[in-house]
Amino acid sequence: MALEVRPEQCVVAVDGPSGSGKSTVSRRLATAIDGVYLDTGAMYRAVTWAVLESGADLTDPEAIAKVALETELRIGTDPQAPSFAANGTNVDVPIRGPEVTGAVSAVAAVPAVRKFLVEQQRAIIAAHPRIIVEGRDIASVVAPDADLKVYLTASAAARAARRSAEDATDVAATEADLARRDKLDSSRAADPLRQASDAIEVDTTGMGIDEVVAHLQRLLDSRVSK
Ligand code: C5P
Repeated sequence: MALEVRPEQCVVAVDGPSGSGKSTVSRRLATAIDGVYLDTGAMYRAVTWAVLESGADLTDPEAIAKVALETELRIGTDPQAPSFAANGTNVDVPIRGPEVTGAVSAVAAVPAVRKFLVEQQRAIIAAHPRIIVEGRDIASVVAPDADLKVYLTASAAARAARRSAEDATDVAATEADLARRDKLDSSRAADPLRQASDAIEVDTTGMGIDEVVAHLQRLLDSRVSK
């Protein structure tokens, strides 16, 4: 479904916990507005891959920050095929693996890592007229002036079912892992996951992807045609 008015310029922030449908919905929306897509979670994952490769101690924030700040990222923004490299190595596969997933929340909790990545995220946003940005702190920290701020949620069971279908993993184990990451992401001191006061909450439990995308398109239409 095309937008009634394709905005000349727009920044859309899509935040929410893991498995809320952010990635699929954001990519579809970016394609619909002929815009680009920024997966900030992939940036934290790519840096985590570099930290794991280096053998740095994951309980030592200074050691994590040192490796992270030396990591050269290449961030793809094509909503059809976003691709990522760290220090010249394509990391599309390993950043979705269990090692990176298990360590990413610890790396993302280090303030220096966040500062380093938020700067890059803002530069990417500034370079593109139409962009959908997904993450945890987009509306609150990265792009507080976004034209549309959405907070996607879904029940824990629905999120686990979606994620385990994508990754072919056990539902119960996936639900436990999502709960673990949500707890770490929500309770960290630096830029925790939380709904911005001006973000529109969309509970996607029981909604199909097409329905969610159409809903966000209507929200965006009402914003840009004002
Ligand atoms: O979205 P995804 O599940 O790939 O994100 C991986 C992890 O990266 C999250 O669990 C969170 O710890 C971190 N993250 C973050 N801030 C963002 C995006 C992701 O802290 N904007």
